[in-house]
Amino acid sequence: MPHEFLTTDIRGQMVLLGTGTSVGVPMIGCGCEVCRSTNPKNRRLRCSAILGLPGGNLLIDTSPDVRVQLLREQIGIVHSVLYTHEHADHVFGLDDLRMMQFYLGGPVPLHCEPGVENRIRKSFDYAFNSEAHTHPGAVPQLAFHRVGLEPFEILGATFVPIRMQHGRRFEVLGFRFGNVAYCTDTNAIPPASMAQLTGLDVLILDALRPRGHATHFSLEEAVEVARQLAPKQTYFTHMSHELEHEATNAKLPAGMALAYDGLRIELT
Ligand SMILES: [Zn+2]
Ligand SMILES: [Zn+2]
Ligand SMILES: [Zn+2]
Repeated sequence: MPHEFLTTDIRGQMVLLGTGTSVGVPMIGCGCEVCRSTNPKNRRLRCSAILGLPGGNLLIDTSPDVRVQLLREQIGIVHSVLYTHEHADHVFGLDDLRMMQFYLGGPVPLHCEPGVENRIRKSFDYAFNSEAHTHPGAVPQLAFHRVGLEPFEILGATFVPIRMQHGRRFEVLGFRFGNVAYCTDTNAIPPASMAQLTGLDVLILDALRPRGHATHFSLEEAVEVARQLAPKQTYFTHMSHELEHEATNAKLPAGMALAYDGLRIELT
């Protein structure tokens, strides 16, 4: 029986698939008010986003929740993947893209820095060994495309990579596409990168929790960065269970708000 293909048209939009920190919200075993909240905006899957570009859908990071995220949004196809960095909460859903090799008629393009490629080659070693596989869909088919600090094109859109610190010894990439920028997993943005983030319509920025952290912006630090960059709108992401959606939003300055899973942002 031929299968009926189901996908939503997201052209011209960015969908935030997950806005939670690495353990997600609710956190396993936690009985706090936010983890027990019935407000859907307090339920946060691991961080990921998808862009509807002229040439197809670009997934930013493959979170361990990617399967439920794509099903929830009824997005049936991913044409290409772009990675911010190689942490587990941004990579380990990759195997769930196995059917894309059939939909695309070839390997799934993965755009990333060398550190991400190394992590994926080690963690998904079965996808790269030369043994004959039992059947065509047994392992993911993947094709790496190296990105650096120069702007690059994917699916008909231009991306400006933004170098950011994620803790003292680790560097990640944020991305600017047109007047929207996605900057997660960072606790310091160097001056040269700040200069690449001016004049934005929308900034999506890491804000883990009220208290400081070794590798993520606190909410207060993120608000200060947003003040300096002055985009028209800022949405905070990668949030822990210490940020209750409604109560936190009520206290934020105008033009700043917590993001939530499923938030759609117009690409400008
Ligand atoms: Zn993360
Ligand atoms: Zn909790
Ligand atoms: Zn990280």
